[in-house]
Amino acid sequence: MGKSQKYDHMKLIRQYAGGHKALITLGRCLAAVSAVMTLIPYYLMWKIIRVAVNGENLNSITVYAIMAVALIVGALLVYIAALLCTHIAAFRVQANMRSSLMKRIITLPLGVFDEDGTGKIRRIVNDSTAATETYIAHTLADKAVAAVTPIGLLVLVFVFNWKIGLICMIPALLGFVCMMFMMGSNMQKKMKEYQDALETMSSEATEYVRGVPVVKTFGQTVHSFKRFKNCIDAYGKWTTEYTLMLRFPMMGFMTCINAIFAALIIASFIFTRNGVDNAIILNVMYYIIITPLVTVALTKIAYSGEAEMNLIDALKRVEKIMEIAPLKEGESNERPTDYSIEAKNVTYRYKDATRNALENVSFSIKQGEHVALVGPSGSGKTTMAELLVRFFDVTDGEICIGGVNVKDMPSAYLLEHVSFVFQDSRLIKKSILENVRMGKPDASEDEVIEALKKAQCMDIIEKLPNGIHTVIGEKGTYLSGGEQQRITIARAILKDAPILILDEATAFADPDNETRVQAAFDEMSKDKTLIMIAHRLSTVKDADRIFVMNDGKCVEAGNHDELMRFDGLYKRMFEEYSKSVEWKVGA
Ligand code: ADP
Repeated sequence: MGKSQKYDHMKLIRQYAGGHKALITLGRCLAAVSAVMTLIPYYLMWKIIRVAVNGENLNSITVYAIMAVALIVGALLVYIAALLCTHIAAFRVQANMRSSLMKRIITLPLGVFDEDGTGKIRRIVNDSTAATETYIAHTLADKAVAAVTPIGLLVLVFVFNWKIGLICMIPALLGFVCMMFMMGSNMQKKMKEYQDALETMSSEATEYVRGVPVVKTFGQTVHSFKRFKNCIDAYGKWTTEYTLMLRFPMMGFMTCINAIFAALIIASFIFTRNGVDNAIILNVMYYIIITPLVTVALTKIAYSGEAEMNLIDALKRVEKIMEIAPLKEGESNERPTDYSIEAKNVTYRYKDATRNALENVSFSIKQGEHVALVGPSGSGKTTMAELLVRFFDVTDGEICIGGVNVKDMPSAYLLEHVSFVFQDSRLIKKSILENVRMGKPDASEDEVIEALKKAQCMDIIEKLPNGIHTVIGEKGTYLSGGEQQRITIARAILKDAPILILDEATAFADPDNETRVQAAFDEMSKDKTLIMIAHRLSTVKDADRIFVMNDGKCVEAGNHDELMRFDGLYKRMFEEYSKSVEWKVGA
């Protein structure tokens, strides 16, 4: 346990428990009382054996037995009361933790969800809080018992015949050493690795399932499984190594704690060498009954230690989310004079990255202008678009809309005036009507239908059982990636924001969908300032201006004809693109 002990997990738990923290203390005290009550009957048992062995007043056996049963029943009731307290507190802690996390998550920059993966965050909100709940509800009471029982047991073991007690304690002591060895400081690190592996697997599984439409569209097979498979393999390797590492200490622990009986037999032989008397019979019988308790106590200590490490790991994960700085709310009352956009020396570096994703990018876009961002994959197009809507804040430089820095605008104002449709814009599990209405909460049904028409979605609506009232993702209602994107376009059309950021779809490339998505894009971008991340160069020819990105820098800017004359990266990309299109047609 070592270092982990310094981490004050109980302080954090008490903070989350709020007004219920007294219940945690009460629960632990009651559990300790019940542990003491459970031990007293063993003393009564000794008395019963003594009466039986010495042939004393046999009636007293009944009295002792009734007292023992009453104490056991009482201990059980007290323990139930303890669990009741810890459970109520645990549910409260879990609820408070989840609501604090959700409150914090909603204030985080949107980019955090890209960086950390929604699967990982979901796992923390669900599983880490559930682990905390289990710990408080069950393990805390067990820990109180595990703390009190050894003291009581030591008294019970040494008071009647310390010599037999000492011999019995030798294997228990060795078992304890093995346990400490297992729980060395490395254990907390191992627990973290274990939870990390589970977390990666869960997030890869989520991403994999989400990617199934793309996998199917492109007829991919084992390659698309690769990352998922790798993390399962890594998990398998880790668990095997870990199990092998613990093989000997665990064998030692189990052997020792179950060998107390053997020690008792040896002790009996030693102490009956010079003949058997009543006292020795009494003690041996008593120790036969009491020693299995030592085994149970040590097992409980081992398991509650492991549960505590799991808890510490879960709490650290929760804290990691709580420590992410929320998006700083812009407080300026200054409002944009128009819907032009200006990037001034924008530099951005992702968390933990070794190089800048964007470096000194500057450009200005007039209100109503349609511009395209093009460039090789990884050149920084998406990052640039995301910075504009404050998925993250720039590392250096500034981005202004109508002369006002986006950082200074209240985020609600910014999001109200900018619509974005990214490739992975997702729909939530609600009706199409509600999904589209998110763009304008007070929109009438007719307005929603009008937006759906403009976004070329009517063919989708017609084939759904309940039209716009069909809940997406329920009873097998499935929309393809392209169809989902058209619905998100309808949402953006309804929102009618003056600035649009579009990420052209490439993944869902069935030709019918593509034409419709393109038509929907055209409809929504009329009279708007438009930034489009373009993947197919055929669609950017008509753009007012094209910014060519390469390696995080804006290397060329101009319209199609100008850039073709310039004879640079754009021209090369365009020629290659034309060749690939011809090649496809030829094929
Ligand atoms: P594009 O949209 O042009 O394909 P991106 O803006 O997605 O390019 O990426 C620009 C650079 O930033 C790339 O080198 C990419 O690897 C890196 N990058 C993108 N997203 C992240 C992220 N979440 N964390 C770390 N690096 C990232």
